[in-house]
Amino acid sequence: MCIGCGVCVLATRGSVTLASLPGGAFLPVLDDADDAALERASRVCPFSDDSLDESVLAETLFGGLPEDDFVGRHLTTYAGRVRDHASRLRSSSGGLTTWLVRELLREEQVDAVIHVRPASPPGAMFEYRISTTEMEIDSAKRSHYSAASLRDLVNDLGADGRRFAFIGVPCIVRAMRSVERLEPGIADVRFHVGLVCGHMKSPAYGLALAWQAGISPEKCVSVDFRVKVPGRESSDYDFAARGDRGTSVSVRSADLLGTNWGHAMFQPNACNYCDDVFAETADVVLGDAWLPEYRGDWMGTNVIVTRNAEIDAILRDGRDRGEIELESLDLVSVRESQAGNYRHRRTGLAVRLKDDERAGRPAPRKRVEASYSGVTFVRRQMVRLRREISEYSHVSFQRAVHARDVAVFVSAMKPLLRRYSRLESIDRKGIARWLASELRRLAHRAVGAVHVRG
Ligand SMILES: Cc1cc2nc3c(=O)[nH]c(=O)nc-3n(C[C@H](O)[C@H](O)[C@H](O)COP(=O)(O)OP(=O)(O)OC[C@H]3O[C@@H](n4cnc5c(N)ncnc54)[C@H](O)[C@@H]3O)c2cc1C
Repeated sequence: MCIGCGVCVLATRGSVTLASLPGGAFLPVLDDADDAALERASRVCPFSDDSLDESVLAETLFGGLPEDDFVGRHLTTYAGRVRDHASRLRSSSGGLTTWLVRELLREEQVDAVIHVRPASPPGAMFEYRISTTEMEIDSAKRSHYSAASLRDLVNDLGADGRRFAFIGVPCIVRAMRSVERLEPGIADVRFHVGLVCGHMKSPAYGLALAWQAGISPEKCVSVDFRVKVPGRESSDYDFAARGDRGTSVSVRSADLLGTNWGHAMFQPNACNYCDDVFAETADVVLGDAWLPEYRGDWMGTNVIVTRNAEIDAILRDGRDRGEIELESLDLVSVRESQAGNYRHRRTGLAVRLKDDERAGRPAPRKRVEASYSGVTFVRRQMVRLRREISEYSHVSFQRAVHARDVAVFVSAMKPLLRRYSRLESIDRKGIARWLASELRRLAHRAVGAVHVRG
C-alpha cells in the first residue's frame, strides 16, 4: 500500500528508507528503524490507520468552512484559465497552477516551490525538486503521471529557513500536513497546493506508452503525457516521448493501450484505498474542468476549489489585473467535473473494502464503509475487473521488458480490456438490451457467413 511519497523518510530523518522495485514502484525499508521511528513513520503515512484522516485534518485547518461529502471544505469554487496563450499552451489544463505558484514567488510570500519536475535517466524520469526561479517553475509544467518521492529532499527542507509552496496529489498533501504537525521544523510550508487526482501511475506507465509509440524503455529519456492539439477536445491530447539519440515521437494518447483512465492500468495498489479526490487538506486544489461547456476548448480549463482567503485574494487580484479569467462554478458542477472519480472513490471503494473483508485481506480504515449496498452486480464486476487490470498491467509489463517485446504486454492486456468493455456496455444498456444487441450482432455474422459460403 506504499504510494512512494517518502514522507516517512522525512519523518524519521532517514531511519526508514525507500527501496525502488522493478517497474519503479517503491517499498519502505523498515529493517534499520527502531520502535520510535516506526511509530513516526506510521503517523505520517497516508495509508496508515495511525495517521489522521483528511476530515480530521481539514477540520483543524479549515473548520469554519462548509463541508461537502465529495469536495471537502470549500471557500470558493471556480473554472478558470490564464489569458496568456503561450503559457496556457505549455500547461496541462488552464495553466493556473503554474501562474499561482509564480505569483506566490513574485509577491515574496514564499522563497521556493516544492513540486515534481522532469528529471533525466539513469535515475527516475520525474522527481520532487525545489524550484526557486520562475524559469525552473515553468520547466515543471504539465501533469507528471508518475509516482515521485520526497526522500531525496530529506536534508534540504528545514535547514535554511526557506518558506515553501508545496504541490502534490491529495495523499501526498495529507502526508505533508501530518509530518508538519508531527515536527513543525521539518519544512516551513506556507501554502499547500493540491492537484485533483483520479489515481497515480507507476513510473512504468510512461515507458509503456513510449514503447507502444516506438521508443523502447532503455532508450526513453523523457515523456510528456499532455500535449495539446488544436481543434480537438481538451481531453483528447497527444503523448510525446524522446529517445536517447534525439528521436522523438508524438501519438494520440487515446490510440495507446493504458491511457483510458477507467481501466486504471499501472495504478499503484494504494490508490485502491484512497477516498480524497479534491485534496481536502490543501489550501487550494486545481484540476481539469471535465464539463461539456469546457471540453470543447482544446487549450484546457481548470476547476478550482479554494480554502484559504489569501489564495482567493491572489486569484481575484489576477482576474482584476486581466492576467487570468475566473468564472464562479457551482458545487454540483465541481462534483460533476469528476464523476468517474466519484464512482472509483465512493462506490468502487465500498465494494473493494467489502471484498477485502470477505477475503480476510487487511485494508486501511477509510471514511467510506465496506458495503455492496446499492451497487449492481455488473458494477461490482467492473470494480473487481479494474483491480485485476491494475495488478496485471504491472506484471505483464515486466514480462514484456524481459522478453524485450512490447507485444507481450499488449496481447496480455487485451482479453481483460475486452471483458471490461463488455461489462461497460451491459452497465450502460441494461442486460436485456445488451442481450438483444448481441443476438442481433451474432445473427448478422451468421447471415454474412452463409452469404460468403453461398
Ligand atoms: C497523477 C495525477 C492524476 C490526476 N488526475 C486528475 C483527475 O482525475 N481529474 C482532474 O481534473 N485532474 C487530475 N489531475 C490534475 C491535472 O492533470 C492537472 O495537473 C491540473 O489540472 C493542473 O493543471 P494546470 O494547467 O493548472 O497545471 P500546470 O500549469 O501544467 O502546472 C502543473 C504543476 O503541477 C506540478 N505537478 C505535476 N505533476 C505533479 C505530481 N505528480 N506531483 C506533484 N506536482 C506535480 C508541476 O510541477 C507543475 O508545477 C491529475 C494530476 C496528476 C499528477
